[in-house]
Amino acid sequence: MIHTGRHFLQIPGPTNVPDRVLRAIDRPVIDHRGPEFAELGLAVLSGLREIFQTSGHVIVYPSSGTGAIEAALVNTLSPGDRVIIFETGQFSYIWWQMGERLGLQIDYVPGNWRRGASAAELEARLTSDARHVVKAVVVVHNETSTGVTSRLSELRRVMNRLRHPALLIVDAISSLGSIDYRMDEWEVDVTVCGSQKGLMVPPGLGFNAVSEKALAANRNAKLPRSYWDWQDMLENNQRGFFPYTPATNLLFGLREALKVMKEEGLENIFRRHIRHGQATRAAVRAWGLEIVCEEPLEYSHSMTAVFTPEGHDADRLRKIILQNFDMSLGAGLGKLAGRAFRVGHLGSFNDLMLAGTLSGVEMGLRLAGIPHKEGGVMAALDSLTPAAKVIEPAKVAR
Ligand code: PLP
Repeated sequence: MIHTGRHFLQIPGPTNVPDRVLRAIDRPVIDHRGPEFAELGLAVLSGLREIFQTSGHVIVYPSSGTGAIEAALVNTLSPGDRVIIFETGQFSYIWWQMGERLGLQIDYVPGNWRRGASAAELEARLTSDARHVVKAVVVVHNETSTGVTSRLSELRRVMNRLRHPALLIVDAISSLGSIDYRMDEWEVDVTVCGSQKGLMVPPGLGFNAVSEKALAANRNAKLPRSYWDWQDMLENNQRGFFPYTPATNLLFGLREALKVMKEEGLENIFRRHIRHGQATRAAVRAWGLEIVCEEPLEYSHSMTAVFTPEGHDADRLRKIILQNFDMSLGAGLGKLAGRAFRVGHLGSFNDLMLAGTLSGVEMGLRLAGIPHKEGGVMAALDSLTPAAKVIEPAKVAR
């Protein structure tokens, strides 16, 4: 089938890249050891701090997010170290597997894939660790496989109340730049991220934002590392350079994306994502379908995972939508495979794109013969434009 117009890329990352960012990438490669590059390097490294809401260092790797996960572990821990990882979904599973392979002792806290990390559970585990054997607590902030956002400030409060010195390591891959994330305020020690979601840059950059405490742990951490070593990075980064060839053109894109984000402002970005999350859930409820996240306080603002009714294959629905409407939705991952689909509403996105996305889902539900009620799109439009908030044309700022 021939498709016209733009493809709708509504997976929860990689996300749509703004044309401005694409144009910034589309330029000749420069010498990564020359003065022009140093300027780019310094601009990007300092701009990133605002997005992570940290005054600490942000390290940039030419890697996917998984590379940055490995970097976070090998730079802070030693073989046999005990680490608590909360089971939130497929991505916490990746952390668990990575930790096992690296020779860490992982305490994988079971979860039902419908809720975030439990503060009560953390309290119980850390209270019984009077000798401070646990060296790190790992949380996936926004679990991209389920659309559940863990409440990090509550987890931090537990650690502080118990005066437990474990590092707090957070995967913010699908929250940074779309869901409020406060590295310093929440005293996160390492934040892991990737370029391809809220930051609106193509895949290929991985990030570790690091606290002073993480840097201190780094000096004693014995896991083998070379490519991922923070010290080589930090030494070169001081002058805007990297210890090996960086992803030059993606960094041009990142510099532009940071400008785009600054123009909109972090607060406005977060508000926009909240509105789109609310409108998406209004549609799902109107269709009579079930949201995977079962705790309203933990609804993700960047994406929504939705169960298809028993006996109706979510992958078939996604295929029908792709074939007929040229829209990609996220697949159910791990134990949600075939049972759920995921709608990304993060990154470079607006009301009309959301309306188009939800229209595609609603038409797909009809074509797939999945039992649902009509009116999901209308419910989303109502959520986006509540009557009380009508803006008269004359009052629109020009
Ligand atoms: N963690 C989370 C929360 C993710 O959403 C992803 C990717 O979607 C990853 C880790 C893995 O990142 P990557 O696929 O870039 O290696």
